[in-house]
Amino acid sequence: MTGSEGSTSLSAREAARLLRQRLEMGGGELFLDGMTRDEVLQQAARALTDQESDGGGGFDRNEVSAPGGLGSAAVAPEAARVTKGVSEEAAVAPSLLPDDYEALREMAMACTRCGLSSGRTRVVFSDGPSAARLMVVGEAPGANEDASGVPFVGMAGQFLDLLLATVALSRQDSVYIANVLKCRPPGNRDPQPDEIAACSPFLLKQIDLVKPRALLAVGSFSARLLTGREGVALGKLRGTVHTYHGVPLVVTYHPAALLRNRRWIRLFWEDLQLLRSVIDDS
Ligand code: SF4
Repeated sequence: MTGSEGSTSLSAREAARLLRQRLEMGGGELFLDGMTRDEVLQQAARALTDQESDGGGGFDRNEVSAPGGLGSAAVAPEAARVTKGVSEEAAVAPSLLPDDYEALREMAMACTRCGLSSGRTRVVFSDGPSAARLMVVGEAPGANEDASGVPFVGMAGQFLDLLLATVALSRQDSVYIANVLKCRPPGNRDPQPDEIAACSPFLLKQIDLVKPRALLAVGSFSARLLTGREGVALGKLRGTVHTYHGVPLVVTYHPAALLRNRRWIRLFWEDLQLLRSVIDDS
């Protein structure tokens, strides 16, 4: 979590702990759509009061129903199986890009490989330490990211920070974040295939250079790119440890999608538990 805690007296770390406790003890889901960061933290504080007053009754994680149409059956971490991502053969080889991290970054900052260069304010290369244990891969910059040059700084990014804190991960010291596209698509439309083909070598080279112990792909575009499972629904990819060039890869929902569909928050949290176990075992 970046920045000060503003007017709320609850710290991000405390909020993360409360959210983790609430999920573990079966508390009702939090409604976060349209909320500010402070409101998210206040909601988490309220969760403690609810939990204490209702005794925090248990729940069966397997009873969490999957959102319709995505085949998102909840999979317990202990039941997850390891598969080899077909992307290991299909990935675009970033062999023409520099092996030096700063040189790669400078090349991306000046890039005009695709049409998105004409509408961007800033190239959004990454955030977090380049020696991070975990690399989170998102989709593309939004308006806030385009303006700031930093990935995941809007409401979805703040929520991602909060959820990562529940498994003791932070972009301050252990998480590096990058997107499939470095420039904002107009109107936040989906990335186009030619844009992904043009930009993804930067991302793949970043993975090569950062050498994370684990990868977390959030959203279908990064999940499909790194698993090589083009056209497969995200719900069918999550709950399993894939590999990308030997690096364990966990797939889950984009935090922005969690803000639209609160039922996915628990599934996301389960995927984080799987991720944490992968990191702890590596
Ligand atoms: S999106 Fe990627 S490929 Fe396209 S201009 Fe930006 S950095 Fe270059």
